Amino acid sequence: MADLINLAEWQRRASIVTPRAQCFIDGKFVDAASGKTFDDISPRDGHLIAKVAEGDVEDINRAVAAARRSFEAGVWSRMAPFERKKVMLRFVDLIREHTLELALLETLDVGKPISDSINVDIASCANNLQWFAECIDKTYGELAPVPYESLAMISREPMGVVGAVVPWNYPAIITSWKIGAGLAAGNSMVLKPAEQSPLSALLLAELASQAGLPDGVLNVVPGFGPTAGAALGLHMDVDKLAFTGSGEVGRYFMRYAAESNAKSVSLELGGKSPQVVLADVGDLEAAASAVAWGVFYNAGQTCHAGTRLIVDHRIQDDLLDAVCEVAKTLWPSDPYDPAGTMGTLVDESQTQRVMGYIEAGRNEGAEVRIGGERLNVTDGGCYIAPTVFSGVNNSMTIAREEIFGPVLVSIPVDGVDEAVRVANDSPFGLAASIWSRDISTAHKAAKALRAGTVWINTFDMGSITTPFGGFKQSGTGRDRSMHSLDGYTHLKTTWLQM
Ligand code: ADP
Repeated sequence: MADLINLAEWQRRASIVTPRAQCFIDGKFVDAASGKTFDDISPRDGHLIAKVAEGDVEDINRAVAAARRSFEAGVWSRMAPFERKKVMLRFVDLIREHTLELALLETLDVGKPISDSINVDIASCANNLQWFAECIDKTYGELAPVPYESLAMISREPMGVVGAVVPWNYPAIITSWKIGAGLAAGNSMVLKPAEQSPLSALLLAELASQAGLPDGVLNVVPGFGPTAGAALGLHMDVDKLAFTGSGEVGRYFMRYAAESNAKSVSLELGGKSPQVVLADVGDLEAAASAVAWGVFYNAGQTCHAGTRLIVDHRIQDDLLDAVCEVAKTLWPSDPYDPAGTMGTLVDESQTQRVMGYIEAGRNEGAEVRIGGERLNVTDGGCYIAPTVFSGVNNSMTIAREEIFGPVLVSIPVDGVDEAVRVANDSPFGLAASIWSRDISTAHKAAKALRAGTVWINTFDMGSITTPFGGFKQSGTGRDRSMHSLDGYTHLKTTWLQM
Protein backbone atom coordinates (compact mmCIF):
# COMPACT_ATOMS: atom_id res chain seq x y z
CA MET A 1 0.00 0.00 0.00
CA ALA A 2 2.88 2.38 0.85
CA ASP A 3 4.39 2.21 -2.60
CA LEU A 4 1.17 3.46 -4.19
CA ILE A 5 2.17 6.83 -2.72
CA ASN A 6 5.58 8.21 -3.61
CA LEU A 7 8.23 9.76 -1.40
CA ALA A 8 7.31 13.36 -2.25
CA GLU A 9 3.64 12.75 -1.50
CA TRP A 10 4.46 11.17 1.88
CA GLN A 11 6.69 14.14 2.67
CA ARG A 12 3.85 16.48 1.73
CA ARG A 13 1.36 14.63 3.89
CA ALA A 14 3.80 14.64 6.81
CA SER A 15 4.22 18.40 6.49
CA ILE A 16 0.50 19.19 6.72
CA VAL A 17 -0.82 16.64 9.19
CA THR A 18 -2.43 18.06 12.34
CA PRO A 19 -2.53 15.22 14.84
CA ARG A 20 -4.69 14.92 17.93
CA ALA A 21 -2.42 16.07 20.74
CA GLN A 22 -4.54 16.46 23.88
CA CYS A 23 -5.29 13.99 26.65
CA PHE A 24 -8.20 11.65 25.92
CA ILE A 25 -10.18 11.32 29.14
CA ASP A 26 -13.73 10.09 29.65
CA GLY A 27 -14.45 10.06 25.92
CA LYS A 28 -13.23 13.63 25.24
CA PHE A 29 -10.05 15.35 24.16
CA VAL A 30 -8.99 17.79 26.87
CA ASP A 31 -5.95 19.91 27.63
CA ALA A 32 -3.69 18.94 30.50
CA ALA A 33 -4.98 20.34 33.79
CA SER A 34 -1.85 22.49 34.05
CA GLY A 35 -2.31 23.74 30.49
CA LYS A 36 1.27 22.65 29.79
CA THR A 37 2.46 21.02 26.57
CA PHE A 38 5.66 19.38 25.43
CA ASP A 39 7.28 19.40 22.00
CA ASP A 40 6.92 16.26 19.91
CA ILE A 41 9.96 16.33 17.62
CA SER A 42 10.46 14.37 14.39
CA PRO A 43 13.62 12.25 14.35
CA ARG A 44 13.75 12.63 10.56
CA ASP A 45 14.68 16.31 10.58
CA GLY A 46 14.14 17.72 14.06
CA HIS A 47 10.96 19.59 13.11
CA LEU A 48 8.19 20.21 15.62
CA ILE A 49 5.33 17.81 14.83
CA ALA A 50 2.96 18.97 17.53
CA LYS A 51 2.72 20.49 20.96
CA VAL A 52 1.30 17.64 23.02
CA ALA A 53 -0.62 17.97 26.29
CA GLU A 54 1.77 17.26 29.14
CA GLY A 55 -0.28 15.03 31.41
CA ASP A 56 0.73 14.89 35.07
CA VAL A 57 -0.68 13.73 38.42
CA GLU A 58 -3.96 15.64 38.09
CA ASP A 59 -4.64 14.25 34.61
CA ILE A 60 -3.84 10.71 35.71
CA ASN A 61 -6.22 11.20 38.66
CA ARG A 62 -8.99 12.31 36.30
CA ALA A 63 -8.34 9.44 33.90
CA VAL A 64 -8.29 6.86 36.69
CA ALA A 65 -11.51 8.32 38.13
CA ALA A 66 -13.18 8.08 34.70
CA ALA A 67 -11.94 4.51 34.29
CA ARG A 68 -13.21 3.59 37.76
CA ARG A 69 -16.62 5.18 37.12
CA SER A 70 -17.03 3.32 33.85
CA PHE A 71 -15.89 0.07 35.42
CA GLU A 72 -18.25 0.28 38.38
CA ALA A 73 -21.14 1.34 36.12
CA GLY A 74 -20.60 -1.90 34.20
CA VAL A 75 -20.98 -0.19 30.82
CA TRP A 76 -18.16 -2.36 29.51
CA SER A 77 -17.31 -4.85 32.23
CA ARG A 78 -20.86 -6.20 32.34
CA MET A 79 -21.75 -5.75 28.67
CA ALA A 80 -22.68 -9.09 27.07
CA PRO A 81 -19.53 -10.71 25.62
CA PHE A 82 -21.02 -10.85 22.14
CA GLU A 83 -21.75 -7.10 22.23
CA ARG A 84 -18.29 -6.30 23.55
CA LYS A 85 -16.82 -8.30 20.72
CA LYS A 86 -18.86 -6.33 18.19
CA VAL A 87 -17.56 -3.01 19.54
CA MET A 88 -13.97 -4.22 19.37
CA LEU A 89 -14.44 -5.53 15.84
CA ARG A 90 -15.86 -2.14 14.77
CA PHE A 91 -12.77 -0.58 16.34
CA VAL A 92 -10.62 -2.92 14.23
CA ASP A 93 -12.51 -1.92 11.07
CA LEU A 94 -11.91 1.75 11.82
CA ILE A 95 -8.19 1.12 12.40
CA ARG A 96 -8.00 -0.57 9.01
CA GLU A 97 -9.86 2.32 7.37
CA HIS A 98 -7.40 4.77 8.97
CA THR A 99 -4.27 2.72 8.25
CA LEU A 100 -2.48 5.39 6.23
CA GLU A 101 -3.20 8.09 8.79
CA LEU A 102 -2.08 5.95 11.72
CA ALA A 103 1.02 4.79 9.84
CA LEU A 104 1.97 8.36 9.04
CA LEU A 105 1.72 9.31 12.72
CA GLU A 106 3.89 6.34 13.67
CA THR A 107 6.56 7.26 11.14
CA LEU A 108 6.40 10.94 12.07
CA ASP A 109 6.95 10.12 15.74
CA VAL A 110 9.61 7.43 15.58
CA GLY A 111 11.07 7.54 12.04
CA LYS A 112 10.41 3.94 11.08
CA PRO A 113 10.03 3.22 7.34
CA ILE A 114 6.54 4.09 6.17
CA SER A 115 6.09 0.65 4.59
CA ASP A 116 6.82 -0.99 7.94
CA SER A 117 4.40 1.33 9.70
CA ILE A 118 1.66 0.33 7.25
CA ASN A 119 2.37 -3.35 6.67
CA VAL A 120 3.73 -4.34 10.05
CA ASP A 121 2.84 -1.90 12.83
CA ILE A 122 -0.69 -0.81 11.97
CA ALA A 123 -1.58 -4.10 10.27
CA SER A 124 -0.47 -6.05 13.36
CA CYS A 125 -2.23 -3.63 15.68
CA ALA A 126 -5.53 -4.31 13.88
CA ASN A 127 -4.93 -8.06 13.63
CA ASN A 128 -4.01 -8.32 17.31
CA LEU A 129 -7.10 -6.44 18.43
CA GLN A 130 -9.23 -8.61 16.17
CA TRP A 131 -7.75 -11.72 17.74
CA PHE A 132 -8.46 -10.49 21.28
CA ALA A 133 -11.95 -9.41 20.24
CA GLU A 134 -12.62 -12.94 19.03
CA CYS A 135 -11.49 -14.33 22.40
CA ILE A 136 -14.18 -12.42 24.25
CA ASP A 137 -17.04 -14.84 23.65
CA LYS A 138 -14.93 -17.97 23.46
CA THR A 139 -13.45 -18.18 26.93
CA TYR A 140 -15.12 -20.38 29.51
CA GLY A 141 -14.81 -20.92 33.25
CA GLU A 142 -14.27 -24.25 35.00
CA LEU A 143 -15.96 -26.52 37.50
CA ALA A 144 -13.61 -27.92 40.11
CA PRO A 145 -13.61 -31.61 41.13
CA VAL A 146 -15.14 -31.20 44.60
CA PRO A 147 -17.42 -33.41 46.77
CA TYR A 148 -20.74 -34.46 45.26
CA GLU A 149 -22.94 -32.16 47.34
CA SER A 150 -20.93 -29.05 46.43
CA LEU A 151 -20.24 -26.98 43.40
CA ALA A 152 -17.10 -24.88 43.00
CA MET A 153 -17.20 -22.60 39.97
CA ILE A 154 -13.97 -21.01 38.82
CA SER A 155 -14.49 -17.89 36.78
CA ARG A 156 -12.34 -15.12 35.43
CA GLU A 157 -13.25 -11.56 36.33
CA PRO A 158 -11.75 -8.30 35.09
CA MET A 159 -9.32 -6.75 37.55
CA GLY A 160 -10.88 -3.29 37.38
CA VAL A 161 -8.77 -0.29 36.39
CA VAL A 162 -5.66 -1.25 34.44
CA GLY A 163 -2.80 1.15 33.75
CA ALA A 164 -0.51 0.56 30.79
CA VAL A 165 2.80 2.33 30.24
CA VAL A 166 4.33 1.62 26.86
CA PRO A 167 7.53 2.46 24.98
CA TRP A 168 8.24 4.09 21.62
CA ASN A 169 9.75 1.27 19.58
CA TYR A 170 6.46 -0.33 18.45
CA PRO A 171 3.89 2.12 19.83
CA ALA A 172 0.75 0.75 18.14
CA ILE A 173 1.71 -2.92 18.37
CA ILE A 174 2.57 -2.91 22.06
CA THR A 175 -0.49 -0.78 22.77
CA SER A 176 -2.60 -3.40 20.99
CA TRP A 177 -1.19 -6.20 23.16
CA LYS A 178 -2.07 -4.30 26.34
CA ILE A 179 -5.43 -2.82 25.41
CA GLY A 180 -6.39 -5.92 23.42
CA ALA A 181 -6.05 -8.22 26.41
CA GLY A 182 -7.13 -5.60 28.95
CA LEU A 183 -10.33 -4.57 27.18
CA ALA A 184 -11.18 -8.11 26.08
CA ALA A 185 -11.08 -9.10 29.74
CA GLY A 186 -13.58 -6.32 30.57
CA ASN A 187 -11.29 -3.83 32.30
CA SER A 188 -11.27 -0.05 32.01
CA MET A 189 -7.88 1.36 31.11
CA VAL A 190 -5.54 4.31 31.35
CA LEU A 191 -2.73 4.25 28.80
CA LYS A 192 0.37 6.38 29.00
CA PRO A 193 2.25 6.31 25.71
CA ALA A 194 5.94 7.18 25.57
CA GLU A 195 6.67 10.89 25.30
CA GLN A 196 8.42 10.21 21.97
CA SER A 197 5.37 8.55 20.42
CA PRO A 198 2.01 9.74 21.73
CA LEU A 199 0.21 10.30 18.42
CA SER A 200 -0.99 6.89 17.26
CA ALA A 201 -2.34 6.09 20.75
CA LEU A 202 -4.45 9.25 20.75
CA LEU A 203 -5.97 8.48 17.37
CA LEU A 204 -6.58 4.88 18.44
CA ALA A 205 -8.52 6.11 21.48
CA GLU A 206 -10.65 8.34 19.28
CA LEU A 207 -11.38 5.45 16.90
CA ALA A 208 -12.30 3.17 19.81
CA SER A 209 -14.75 5.78 20.98
CA GLN A 210 -16.25 6.11 17.47
CA ALA A 211 -16.62 2.33 17.44
CA GLY A 212 -18.84 2.55 20.50
CA LEU A 213 -16.44 1.93 23.36
CA PRO A 214 -18.21 3.64 26.28
CA ASP A 215 -16.70 6.84 27.70
CA GLY A 216 -14.06 6.30 30.35
CA VAL A 217 -13.20 2.75 29.30
CA LEU A 218 -10.05 3.73 27.41
CA ASN A 219 -8.24 6.88 28.47
CA VAL A 220 -4.92 8.10 27.11
CA VAL A 221 -2.70 10.50 29.03
CA PRO A 222 0.46 11.60 27.21
CA GLY A 223 3.28 12.90 29.37
CA PHE A 224 6.65 12.08 30.84
CA GLY A 225 7.66 8.96 32.74
CA PRO A 226 8.75 10.37 36.09
CA THR A 227 5.54 12.45 36.35
CA ALA A 228 2.57 10.90 34.51
CA GLY A 229 4.06 7.37 34.41
CA ALA A 230 4.94 7.42 38.09
CA ALA A 231 1.51 8.82 39.01
CA LEU A 232 -0.13 5.84 37.30
CA GLY A 233 2.25 3.37 38.95
CA LEU A 234 1.67 4.90 42.39
CA HIS A 235 -2.09 5.34 42.07
CA MET A 236 -4.08 3.75 44.89
CA ASP A 237 -7.04 3.02 42.62
CA VAL A 238 -5.20 1.25 39.79
CA ASP A 239 -5.54 -2.52 40.13
CA LYS A 240 -2.95 -3.61 37.62
CA LEU A 241 -0.06 -1.99 35.80
CA ALA A 242 1.23 -3.43 32.54
CA PHE A 243 4.62 -2.09 31.49
CA THR A 244 6.98 -2.53 28.57
CA GLY A 245 10.28 -0.66 28.64
CA SER A 246 13.67 -0.58 30.26
CA GLY A 247 14.80 -2.70 33.20
CA GLU A 248 15.47 0.40 35.24
CA VAL A 249 11.93 1.72 34.88
CA GLY A 250 10.47 -1.77 35.29
CA ARG A 251 12.04 -1.86 38.74
CA TYR A 252 10.47 1.52 39.50
CA PHE A 253 7.06 0.01 38.79
CA MET A 254 7.72 -2.79 41.27
CA ARG A 255 8.67 -0.13 43.79
CA TYR A 256 5.62 2.01 42.96
CA ALA A 257 3.40 -1.02 43.57
CA ALA A 258 5.12 -1.76 46.87
CA GLU A 259 4.77 1.86 47.99
CA SER A 260 1.10 2.13 47.06
CA ASN A 261 -1.59 -0.56 46.89
CA ALA A 262 0.49 -3.67 46.02
CA LYS A 263 -1.08 -3.62 42.57
CA SER A 264 -0.32 -6.46 40.20
CA VAL A 265 2.54 -5.57 37.84
CA SER A 266 3.61 -7.23 34.61
CA LEU A 267 6.91 -6.25 33.04
CA GLU A 268 8.30 -6.81 29.59
CA LEU A 269 11.83 -5.51 29.84
CA GLY A 270 14.89 -5.56 27.67
CA GLY A 271 17.03 -8.21 26.08
CA LYS A 272 20.41 -9.04 24.66
CA SER A 273 19.27 -11.97 22.61
CA PRO A 274 21.86 -14.45 21.37
CA GLN A 275 21.75 -15.75 17.82
CA VAL A 276 23.76 -18.98 18.06
CA VAL A 277 25.15 -20.32 14.79
CA LEU A 278 26.92 -23.69 14.97
CA ALA A 279 29.50 -24.98 12.49
CA ASP A 280 26.97 -27.38 10.93
CA VAL A 281 24.60 -24.50 10.14
CA GLY A 282 23.77 -25.78 6.67
CA ASP A 283 22.48 -22.79 4.72
CA LEU A 284 24.92 -20.04 5.68
CA GLU A 285 23.24 -17.44 3.48
CA ALA A 286 19.87 -18.04 5.11
CA ALA A 287 21.45 -17.76 8.55
CA ALA A 288 23.26 -14.55 7.57
CA SER A 289 20.05 -13.00 6.33
CA ALA A 290 18.17 -13.94 9.51
CA VAL A 291 21.03 -12.71 11.72
CA ALA A 292 21.15 -9.33 9.94
CA TRP A 293 17.38 -8.80 9.86
CA GLY A 294 17.17 -10.11 13.43
CA VAL A 295 19.32 -7.29 14.71
CA PHE A 296 18.81 -4.44 12.23
CA TYR A 297 15.04 -4.49 11.80
CA ASN A 298 13.52 -1.29 13.27
CA ALA A 299 17.08 0.09 13.47
CA GLY A 300 17.81 -2.40 16.25
CA GLN A 301 15.19 -0.85 18.53
CA THR A 302 13.50 -4.11 19.37
CA CYS A 303 13.52 -5.68 22.85
CA HIS A 304 14.23 -9.14 21.50
CA ALA A 305 16.68 -8.00 18.79
CA GLY A 306 19.36 -10.64 18.21
CA THR A 307 22.24 -8.41 19.18
CA ARG A 308 24.78 -11.08 20.18
CA LEU A 309 25.95 -13.35 17.38
CA ILE A 310 27.50 -16.39 19.05
CA VAL A 311 29.18 -18.24 16.24
CA ASP A 312 31.51 -21.20 15.89
CA HIS A 313 34.98 -19.76 15.21
CA ARG A 314 35.38 -22.05 12.15
CA ILE A 315 32.64 -20.24 10.24
CA GLN A 316 32.79 -16.79 11.82
CA ASP A 317 34.55 -15.00 8.96
CA ASP A 318 32.36 -16.47 6.24
CA LEU A 319 29.22 -15.73 8.19
CA LEU A 320 30.24 -12.16 9.02
CA ASP A 321 31.09 -11.45 5.38
CA ALA A 322 27.61 -12.61 4.44
CA VAL A 323 25.97 -10.65 7.28
CA CYS A 324 27.76 -7.47 6.13
CA GLU A 325 26.48 -8.01 2.59
CA VAL A 326 22.92 -8.17 3.91
CA ALA A 327 23.58 -5.13 6.12
CA LYS A 328 24.44 -3.11 3.01
CA THR A 329 20.94 -3.79 1.68
CA LEU A 330 19.42 -2.47 4.92
CA TRP A 331 21.17 0.92 4.81
CA PRO A 332 19.06 3.76 6.24
CA SER A 333 16.98 5.92 3.94
CA ASP A 334 14.35 8.62 4.32
CA PRO A 335 11.54 7.06 6.42
CA TYR A 336 9.06 8.26 3.77
CA ASP A 337 10.79 6.27 1.03
CA PRO A 338 8.27 3.48 0.34
CA ALA A 339 11.13 1.13 -0.55
CA GLY A 340 13.12 1.91 2.61
CA THR A 341 14.15 -0.84 5.03
CA MET A 342 15.69 1.22 7.82
CA GLY A 343 14.74 4.70 8.96
CA THR A 344 15.96 6.77 11.88
CA LEU A 345 16.50 6.07 15.54
CA VAL A 346 13.81 7.49 17.77
CA ASP A 347 15.50 10.73 18.81
CA GLU A 348 18.72 12.61 19.28
CA SER A 349 19.42 11.37 22.78
CA GLN A 350 18.99 7.73 21.78
CA THR A 351 21.24 8.33 18.77
CA GLN A 352 23.95 9.74 21.00
CA ARG A 353 23.54 6.89 23.45
CA VAL A 354 24.04 4.31 20.70
CA MET A 355 27.04 6.23 19.30
CA GLY A 356 28.45 6.16 22.85
CA TYR A 357 28.23 2.36 22.85
CA ILE A 358 29.93 2.20 19.46
CA GLU A 359 32.72 4.35 20.89
CA ALA A 360 32.92 2.08 23.96
CA GLY A 361 33.22 -0.97 21.70
CA ARG A 362 36.12 0.58 19.83
CA ASN A 363 37.78 1.59 23.11
CA GLU A 364 37.43 -1.95 24.46
CA GLY A 365 39.31 -3.25 21.42
CA ALA A 366 36.48 -4.64 19.27
CA GLU A 367 36.80 -4.23 15.51
CA VAL A 368 34.17 -2.52 13.34
CA ARG A 369 33.45 -4.73 10.30
CA ILE A 370 30.86 -2.41 8.81
CA GLY A 371 29.12 0.81 9.84
CA GLY A 372 30.07 2.42 13.12
CA GLU A 373 29.08 5.87 12.01
CA ARG A 374 26.28 8.38 12.05
CA LEU A 375 24.78 9.19 8.64
CA ASN A 376 23.18 12.30 7.24
CA VAL A 377 20.37 10.90 5.09
CA THR A 378 18.09 13.89 5.67
CA ASP A 379 19.34 17.04 7.37
CA GLY A 380 19.02 16.90 11.13
CA GLY A 381 18.02 13.21 11.08
CA CYS A 382 18.93 10.50 13.60
CA TYR A 383 20.52 7.84 11.39
CA ILE A 384 23.16 5.26 12.32
CA ALA A 385 24.63 2.80 9.85
CA PRO A 386 24.11 -0.91 10.50
CA THR A 387 27.16 -1.78 12.58
CA VAL A 388 28.91 -5.12 13.07
CA PHE A 389 31.66 -5.64 15.65
CA SER A 390 33.97 -8.65 15.64
CA GLY A 391 36.72 -9.47 18.13
CA VAL A 392 34.18 -9.25 20.94
CA ASN A 393 34.16 -11.25 24.14
CA ASN A 394 31.06 -11.68 26.24
CA SER A 395 32.34 -9.53 29.09
CA MET A 396 32.66 -6.33 27.04
CA THR A 397 30.12 -3.57 27.65
CA ILE A 398 28.77 -3.93 24.10
CA ALA A 399 28.10 -7.63 24.77
CA ARG A 400 26.40 -7.13 28.11
CA GLU A 401 24.28 -4.00 27.94
CA GLU A 402 21.21 -3.41 25.84
CA ILE A 403 22.23 -0.88 23.16
CA PHE A 404 18.85 -0.50 21.42
CA GLY A 405 20.37 0.49 18.11
CA PRO A 406 21.61 -1.20 14.92
CA VAL A 407 24.66 -2.83 16.49
CA LEU A 408 25.62 -6.51 16.27
CA VAL A 409 28.49 -8.00 18.25
CA SER A 410 30.09 -11.27 17.13
CA ILE A 411 31.49 -13.60 19.77
CA PRO A 412 33.42 -16.65 18.53
CA VAL A 413 32.99 -19.96 20.38
CA ASP A 414 34.13 -23.56 20.01
CA GLY A 415 31.22 -26.01 19.80
CA VAL A 416 27.69 -26.18 21.12
CA ASP A 417 28.44 -26.41 24.86
CA GLU A 418 30.47 -23.22 24.92
CA ALA A 419 27.89 -21.55 22.65
CA VAL A 420 25.04 -22.29 25.05
CA ARG A 421 27.11 -21.30 28.08
CA VAL A 422 27.99 -17.91 26.53
CA ALA A 423 24.42 -17.41 25.27
CA ASN A 424 23.07 -17.94 28.79
CA ASP A 425 25.74 -15.73 30.37
CA SER A 426 23.56 -12.61 30.33
CA PRO A 427 21.23 -10.95 32.81
CA PHE A 428 18.52 -11.08 30.12
CA GLY A 429 16.42 -13.94 28.80
CA LEU A 430 13.89 -12.62 26.33
CA ALA A 431 14.70 -14.60 23.18
CA ALA A 432 17.41 -16.71 21.53
CA SER A 433 18.02 -18.63 18.35
CA ILE A 434 20.04 -21.72 17.46
CA TRP A 435 21.17 -22.70 13.98
CA SER A 436 22.24 -26.30 13.32
CA ARG A 437 21.42 -28.92 10.71
CA ASP A 438 21.40 -31.58 13.45
CA ILE A 439 17.91 -31.49 14.90
CA SER A 440 18.94 -33.27 18.14
CA THR A 441 21.75 -30.79 18.77
CA ALA A 442 19.44 -27.90 17.98
CA HIS A 443 16.69 -29.23 20.19
CA LYS A 444 18.98 -29.94 23.12
CA ALA A 445 20.41 -26.44 22.83
CA ALA A 446 16.91 -24.95 22.59
CA LYS A 447 16.01 -26.67 25.87
CA ALA A 448 19.15 -25.36 27.54
CA LEU A 449 18.71 -21.76 26.37
CA ARG A 450 17.15 -19.66 29.14
CA ALA A 451 14.77 -17.48 27.18
CA GLY A 452 11.04 -16.90 26.76
CA THR A 453 11.22 -17.58 23.03
CA VAL A 454 13.71 -19.82 21.22
CA TRP A 455 13.89 -20.05 17.44
CA ILE A 456 15.47 -23.04 15.71
CA ASN A 457 16.92 -22.27 12.26
CA THR A 458 15.02 -19.00 12.05
CA PHE A 459 14.66 -15.72 13.89
CA ASP A 460 11.86 -13.35 14.79
CA MET A 461 8.89 -15.55 14.00
CA GLY A 462 6.01 -14.20 16.02
CA SER A 463 2.28 -14.46 16.25
CA ILE A 464 -0.45 -13.09 18.44
CA THR A 465 -1.21 -16.76 19.19
CA THR A 466 2.12 -17.30 21.00
CA PRO A 467 3.09 -15.88 24.39
CA PHE A 468 5.86 -13.28 24.48
CA GLY A 469 7.92 -12.35 27.52
CA GLY A 470 11.11 -12.99 29.34
CA PHE A 471 13.10 -15.18 31.69
CA LYS A 472 15.53 -13.61 34.18
CA GLN A 473 15.75 -9.81 34.09
CA SER A 474 13.73 -9.60 30.87
CA GLY A 475 10.55 -9.44 32.87
CA THR A 476 7.54 -11.12 34.38
CA GLY A 477 4.22 -11.98 32.79
CA ARG A 478 3.43 -12.52 29.13
CA ASP A 479 1.94 -10.47 26.32
CA ARG A 480 0.01 -12.11 23.44
CA SER A 481 -1.91 -15.40 23.35
CA MET A 482 -4.67 -16.55 25.68
CA HIS A 483 -2.07 -16.73 28.46
CA SER A 484 -1.83 -12.95 28.45
CA LEU A 485 -5.49 -12.75 29.52
CA ASP A 486 -4.41 -14.30 32.83
CA GLY A 487 -2.55 -11.09 33.56
CA TYR A 488 -5.70 -8.98 33.17
CA THR A 489 -8.14 -11.11 35.14
CA HIS A 490 -8.64 -12.40 38.65
CA LEU A 491 -9.63 -16.00 39.24
CA LYS A 492 -12.73 -16.25 41.38
CA THR A 493 -13.97 -19.41 43.08
CA THR A 494 -17.67 -19.49 43.95
CA TRP A 495 -18.84 -22.33 46.22
CA LEU A 496 -22.39 -23.54 46.32
CA GLN A 497 -23.59 -26.11 48.82
CA MET A 498 -26.55 -28.15 47.65
P1 ADP B 1 13.23 3.48 26.89
O1 ADP B 1 14.58 3.42 27.55
O2 ADP B 1 12.98 2.43 25.89
O3 ADP B 1 12.81 4.86 26.51
P2 ADP B 1 11.77 3.65 29.31
O4 ADP B 1 11.67 2.51 30.24
O5 ADP B 1 12.57 4.83 29.71
O6 ADP B 1 12.25 3.01 27.97
O7 ADP B 1 10.33 4.18 28.89
C1 ADP B 1 9.24 3.33 28.67
C2 ADP B 1 8.02 4.00 29.22
O8 ADP B 1 8.23 4.22 30.62
C3 ADP B 1 7.71 5.37 28.62
O9 ADP B 1 6.30 5.51 28.49
C4 ADP B 1 8.25 6.32 29.67
O10 ADP B 1 7.61 7.58 29.68
C5 ADP B 1 7.97 5.56 30.95
N1 ADP B 1 8.86 5.97 32.06
C6 ADP B 1 10.13 6.42 31.98
N2 ADP B 1 10.60 6.72 33.20
C7 ADP B 1 9.61 6.47 34.08
C8 ADP B 1 9.47 6.60 35.50
N3 ADP B 1 10.47 7.06 36.25
N4 ADP B 1 8.30 6.23 36.05
C9 ADP B 1 7.28 5.77 35.29
N5 ADP B 1 7.34 5.65 33.96
C10 ADP B 1 8.48 5.98 33.35
